[in-house]
Amino acid sequence: EKMVLEVRDLHVTFKTYGGTVQAVRGVSFDVYQGETLAIVGESGCGKSVTSSAIMGLIPTPPGEITKGQVIFKGKELTRLSKKELRKIRGSDISMIFQDPMTALNPTLTVEEQLTEGIKQHKSISSAEAKKKAIEMMKLVGIPNPTERMKQYPHQFSGGMRQRIVIAIALMCEPELLIADEPTTALDVTIQAQILELFEEIQEKTGVAIILITHDLGVVAKIADRIAVMYAGKIIESGTKREIFYKPNHPYTQGLLHSVPRLDLKGKALEPIEGTPPDLFAPPAGCPFTARCPHAMEVCEKVMPRSESLSSTHSVDCWLLDERAEGMRLA
Ligand code: SF4
Ligand code: MG
Repeated sequence: EKMVLEVRDLHVTFKTYGGTVQAVRGVSFDVYQGETLAIVGESGCGKSVTSSAIMGLIPTPPGEITKGQVIFKGKELTRLSKKELRKIRGSDISMIFQDPMTALNPTLTVEEQLTEGIKQHKSISSAEAKKKAIEMMKLVGIPNPTERMKQYPHQFSGGMRQRIVIAIALMCEPELLIADEPTTALDVTIQAQILELFEEIQEKTGVAIILITHDLGVVAKIADRIAVMYAGKIIESGTKREIFYKPNHPYTQGLLHSVPRLDLKGKALEPIEGTPPDLFAPPAGCPFTARCPHAMEVCEKVMPRSESLSSTHSVDCWLLDERAEGMRLA
């Protein structure tokens, strides 16, 4: 498999009047062609900030990538100029946001919005751009594309609008699609259709997808691999089966509520008692200590290291580290 994106030890901070928030604290992962990596976690865990950092969309200031690398097809994105990033964004890397209404411009026709980006990014004639737009409308399952492209966003249903947003994202044939809560604003039936569409598109185009979500039903449906984020860190990652059937981190276990099933349709993350740590002053040790039913003395003092349970499954937890026993006694 071909690696499309490599994120290495990413750190992102935000300066506020109350101090500096350490929103992302050393995140690493890879994404391969044709796969869907789901990044899951509660709101504020850093998953959206991670995706914004990949896209070069961290507002600086107050935000800053203080450390780490985002390597897309061998290019280090964090070192590129705004102009170079703009060239990649919307072309090689596309993003789909939660609310299709805010992603679309109500005053432009769908055709204008479909062809706008590709005309900017590629030297292409209007006729070619239009042909491509029709092709993409077909790909996302909108009937009568030639006629319907002349209409405005409000003339489409919510589900159709999200299809249009996806068509726009695909116009330049991106290698990576980042979808941040792409179905949260849609009702359950439409959600299922959009998820099927993602799968279809991936099969046809081989695009790699990073799916940011808090919805385990969505994850169960389309993820190949899952990274679980907590307090700015990935605390467990693995294949879908590893995470759903063999969750090892107490936080992941809590999320799944010890019911590892793949039919958690529309089910939000289980609430776990307590709140995540304050990221103005993150704890020195495991960020889950205060909420963890298995916490040991070492946990709050020293950060657990990443333990590999398989070539695809890794967990940051002292329970898996044999040194914990000695450190507890010490
Ligand atoms: Fe719980 Fe300790 Fe593991 Fe953290 S390191 S999840 S506190 S057992
Ligand atoms: Mg978010």
